[in-house]
Amino acid sequence: MEYGIGQIITFDYEPVLPRGTAATVTAKGEILGLSSSGRVLIVKIIEAQDADPDTRAELIGSTRPIDRRTVTSVEGSAIERSCGTCRWFDATYAPNEDDPELAYGLCEWPAERLPASLRGGNRERSAMNPADGRDCPCWELRVEGKAAA
Ligand code: SF4
Repeated sequence: MEYGIGQIITFDYEPVLPRGTAATVTAKGEILGLSSSGRVLIVKIIEAQDADPDTRAELIGSTRPIDRRTVTSVEGSAIERSCGTCRWFDATYAPNEDDPELAYGLCEWPAERLPASLRGGNRERSAMNPADGRDCPCWELRVEGKAAA
């Protein structure tokens, strides 16, 4: 499993607060860890744009679990949602250094985690181009970091 501990990410966040759910904010935070499934990032929030003062006060400095699919950038780099940036993409299947558009990897999304929206369209072990998958509901950011377990 890959970890991105210490990386700074920006993500869309709908805060659940004691007084209810607040409007979605653009938040920035430091990755402190990942859940055992790898789907959830544990993040310490350091910025909350577009939030009202009360929400901002409650969010900043707090540690919260977020869905990694809500991540929009890592340390200032915009993330293009595609198979090439997805943690489930195995690029070693048929790389093509001369013409990346003709490269193929395998989608390794585990079938038992397939969401209902993709039933009947299982992509597990399907050959995918790195540019594919822009609208894939299974896309999850590939995070590479300092430590692995
Ligand atoms: S098809 Fe979806 S889950 Fe599979 S590698 Fe591409 S973006 Fe990831």
